[in-house]
Amino acid sequence: MLTNSLVELDRRHLVHPVSSFRGHEARGVRILKSAKGATVTDAEGRQLIDGFAGLWCVNAGYGQESVIEAAAEQMRRLPYATGYFDLGSEAPIRLAAELAERSPGDLNHIYFTLGGSDAVDSTIRFVRYYWHAKGQPQRDQFISVEQGYHGSTTMGAGLTALPGFHDGFGVPYAWQHKISSHYLYRNPLGDDPKTVIDASVAELRAKVAAIGEDRVAAFYVEPIQGSGGVLVPPKGWIKAMRDVCKELGILFIADEVITGFGRTGPIFASAEEGIVPDFMTCAKGLTSGYVPMGAVFMADHVYDTIADGAGAKAVGHGFTYSAHPVSAAVALEVLRLYEGGLFDNGIKAGARLMAGLESLRDHPLVGDVRGRGLLAAVELVTDKDKKTPLPAEVQPATRLLDRAWDQGLIVRSFAQGVFGYAPPLCCTDSEIDAIVERTRTVLDLTLEDPEIR
Ligand code: PMP
Repeated sequence: MLTNSLVELDRRHLVHPVSSFRGHEARGVRILKSAKGATVTDAEGRQLIDGFAGLWCVNAGYGQESVIEAAAEQMRRLPYATGYFDLGSEAPIRLAAELAERSPGDLNHIYFTLGGSDAVDSTIRFVRYYWHAKGQPQRDQFISVEQGYHGSTTMGAGLTALPGFHDGFGVPYAWQHKISSHYLYRNPLGDDPKTVIDASVAELRAKVAAIGEDRVAAFYVEPIQGSGGVLVPPKGWIKAMRDVCKELGILFIADEVITGFGRTGPIFASAEEGIVPDFMTCAKGLTSGYVPMGAVFMADHVYDTIADGAGAKAVGHGFTYSAHPVSAAVALEVLRLYEGGLFDNGIKAGARLMAGLESLRDHPLVGDVRGRGLLAAVELVTDKDKKTPLPAEVQPATRLLDRAWDQGLIVRSFAQGVFGYAPPLCCTDSEIDAIVERTRTVLDLTLEDPEIR
């Protein structure tokens, strides 16, 4: 009864992010009520494994008492402190220092935001400021990668390269350019890593030449493209792109909003790629989703250029909730849990997940399995040789999600039938095995679906 009235109130008043408003009204909301570890319980008392850690964010798992206590303690003592007017508080200062110590290279300066989108947006502003400070204000052109996702602010959505975030919104802007994705499974050049890397390097060089070498400000990448369908670049691709940017004097921004904090194994994927970006963005796993927070990491030379350029003037960029003490207290405790065993467990669980998903390759509907650590995808096709996607007209993404839900599994379903996985790092062996087994059941049921075959 209570659930019914909530569903109705939701339908009437709550606008859901990235949803078909009318589709959502028709389907109604599924209400989650509580969670522990990797298991969530819905309003009817059904238990489901959260194979997507909320929205790839609850890396530490649900119900971590010490995190809850850290938030409560901080709220009791000092629930808010601004960073304006030379003020501050202990937790964000400690957190910045802890993160700087663990970040790749000299990414020593940290600007806290509220999430990933405003972290990306902040980098756009800081990049522009940097080039002004360098005496090159004409460097105002930005490049990102097709199928990339860099958030939902107006400027970030323009760097994003997924049509749903552009159509009807008037972005991208003319100063936002794209190069092709590496997307190995459907790359017209095939899946040979060297061929794909060489082609991307050539395309980036050509793009820069076409725009004008002295006009390009920055290049954005995700170490693994998440929302585009978990697209893993060939080993060496990130490094090759970083090298081109260095050679051409273009700032390189690694968007680690998904890949940060153990999602692929190490604390940051950039380190795994052997690169030091000029800027790095994080969010999600930073606080494990318990409270909102994002971060922009700046290399020493970026920070010093902006600082010297501004001199005594204020750098006019800030949010009321920049460096929020409660979020920082949560992040500090989450970091302690990660390093106290969750990162190690995540690596073990990630290997098990990848092996389990690989075992699905024999299924007639599985065209591709890809991922690293606890970030993975299974791409479904109706014809493996032709790589035929599931028919768009039956809205396979919704259908697959519903079927997974019925099996007690929450996953993400992208576009035309790509299952995305990003379970919490605390997953046990049996939870990982259940994710794989339930996926196989969904695949079997889908194989019997006459509208899909
Ligand atoms: N960048 C990347 C790579 C992301 O995956 C996301 C969110 N999925 C964002 C930025 C935006 O983060 P948020 O949703 O916290 O604003």
